[in-house]
Amino acid sequence: DRLPARLSGIVEHWAQDAPQAVALSQDGVTLSYSQLNEASRQAALWLRDYGVRPGDRLMVVAENCIAQLVLLFAAARMDAWLVNVNARLSAREVDAIAQHSQPRVVLYTGHISAEAMAHAERGGAELHEVAGAGLVQVGPLHTDCEPEPVHASGNEQVAALIYTTGTTGQPKGVMLTHRNLLFIAATSSHVRGLTPADRAYGVLPVTHVFGLASVALGTLYAGATLYLAARYSPSAVVRAIQHDELTILQGVPAMYARLLEYDYGDWDPSNSSLRFIYAGGSPLDPTLKHETERLFGRTLHNGYGMTETSPTISQTRIDAPRTDTSVGSVIPGIEIRIVDDQGVTVQRGEPGELWVRGPNVMKGYYHDDKLTALTVNPEGWLNTGDIVRQEADGALFLIGRSKELIIRSGFNVYPIEVEAALNAHPAVVQSAVVGRDGTDGNEEVIAFVELDPAQDAPAAQALHEWLHPRLSPYKRPSQIVIMQAMPAAATGKILKGQLKQLAQQLRKEALHPE
Ligand code: ATP
Ligand code: MG
Repeated sequence: DRLPARLSGIVEHWAQDAPQAVALSQDGVTLSYSQLNEASRQAALWLRDYGVRPGDRLMVVAENCIAQLVLLFAAARMDAWLVNVNARLSAREVDAIAQHSQPRVVLYTGHISAEAMAHAERGGAELHEVAGAGLVQVGPLHTDCEPEPVHASGNEQVAALIYTTGTTGQPKGVMLTHRNLLFIAATSSHVRGLTPADRAYGVLPVTHVFGLASVALGTLYAGATLYLAARYSPSAVVRAIQHDELTILQGVPAMYARLLEYDYGDWDPSNSSLRFIYAGGSPLDPTLKHETERLFGRTLHNGYGMTETSPTISQTRIDAPRTDTSVGSVIPGIEIRIVDDQGVTVQRGEPGELWVRGPNVMKGYYHDDKLTALTVNPEGWLNTGDIVRQEADGALFLIGRSKELIIRSGFNVYPIEVEAALNAHPAVVQSAVVGRDGTDGNEEVIAFVELDPAQDAPAAQALHEWLHPRLSPYKRPSQIVIMQAMPAAATGKILKGQLKQLAQQLRKEALHPE
C-alpha cells in the first residue's frame, strides 16, 4: 500500500478508519486513535502560537510517555524536526545535544521523572498545558536559531534528528526523513504480521530509532495498541504480559537476560498471550537465545540495524524461525553489498563490510557533511562499518564492527566470539570485549564481565580456565575485569568506548601503581 506523505498520516488514517481503537496506553491512561490525532493537531497549533516555525528543531526531554508521542506527531504536522532526548542523560550530555541541534524550544514532558524535572529546572522551564498533550515544562524560546529549509515534497523533509548510541565514540546526529521512518514503520508492521488486534510493549526508549521506528511507529502503522513503559523492569514486563495480554515483546538482549533471572513463582511464562518476541540492537548470544526460547516457549527473533538506516537492515522471518543467531535476511525494498577493503564484492559466505542502499538510508549527519560523505557514497551506498557474512539461503550473520576488530599477533579477533564464550558460563550475565593497544603494535584482548549476583561469583582465574578449552590462544583475554554494572545507554546497550578507556586506565595503573 502507498505510504502517507508525513508521519502524522499514520494517525490521521486510523482516526478515520478505527477512531475508537486504542492507540496508546500507559498506567491506566489510554488514548484512542481519534484522541491521539486530535491531541497532536492541538499540540501543533499550540506550538505554532508559542513561536515554533517549520524547519525548527523541537527538543523533547522525556522518558517513554503518551505526551512524547503526541509531540512526535505534532512536530510532524508542522514540519518541525523532533529531537527526542532521554531524560536519563546527564546534564552535560543533554547540553551537548542542545548545542549541536540548536532547538527553538525545549520541552520536558512525560511522567516527569526526577531526572526530567532536574533538567527542566536547570533549563528555566515553566509549566504549561500543551493542548491535548497534558502538562509539560516548556523552556524559553530561543530567538537566535535558524530554521532549516522546509522540503517542498513532504516526505523528504527531516522528521527527526536522532543521536546514535555512542558505542564507539561521541553520539552522531542522524537526520531521518518522513520517508525513512514511514518505510521502516510499514516494514516493521509487515514483517511481524501486525494487525489492529496486536498489543505491543513499548519499553525501548523512543529517543532511539529502534524504539521510535520499529516499535512505536511500526505498532501504530498497523493500528495496533502500544503499551508504553517509561523504564524497564522484569516485574513490569511480567505484569504487562499478564494484565494487558501483550502479543508482541521487543527489546535488546540485555532485557531478556534479566527476564531469565526473574522468579516467576507458579506462573508459567510459556503459556502467555505473546506470539512474537524479538531482540535486536546488540549481538544475540546463542545461550541467551536458547534459554529465552525455553522460558517463553517461543522463537526469539533477531534483527539488525543502525540509527543511520532508520534502523532495520535485516530481520529473521516470522515464517522461517532460526535456531542459530543469524540476524535474518535483508528486509524487502533495500539492497546490500558485502565488500572487501577495496570495495570489491566478496564471495558468498566470505566476511566483508556491509553496504546498504534504499529508502531507509539517512539524509545525512546534521552539520557534518564530511562524515556524511565518508559514510554514504555518491551512488547512495551507506557503509555500515559492520562486518557480516551471508549464507547461501540469504541469512546474514554479524561478525563484528570493523572498528572493534582486535588484531593480535596478526590474527583477527572479533569480540562477539569471545563474548559468546564468556556468556556461556552459567554465572556470567553479560560481557564485553575490547582491544587495548599493547607494545609492538599488537593489541591485547580485554574482557569485562557482569556476574549474576544470585550465584557464587567465580574468580577471574576461574573464567580464564573456562575459556581455555573454548578459544584458541590468540583469542583469549589477557585480562578479565569483573564489573558491578556495565556502562550502558538508556536502551541497555553497553558503551564500549567507555570500557576501552577503562582498559587503558587499568594498564596505566598496572604500570605505575600509586
Ligand atoms: P555509535 O555509532 O555512536 O558508535 P552505535 O553504532 O552503537 O553507536 P546504534 O545506531 O544505536 O549506535 O547501533 C547500531 C549498531 O549496533 C550496528 O552498527 C551494529 O554494530 C550493532 N547492532 C545492531 N543490531 C545488532 C544485532 N542484532 N546484533 C549485533 N549487533 C547489532
Ligand atoms: Mg554506529
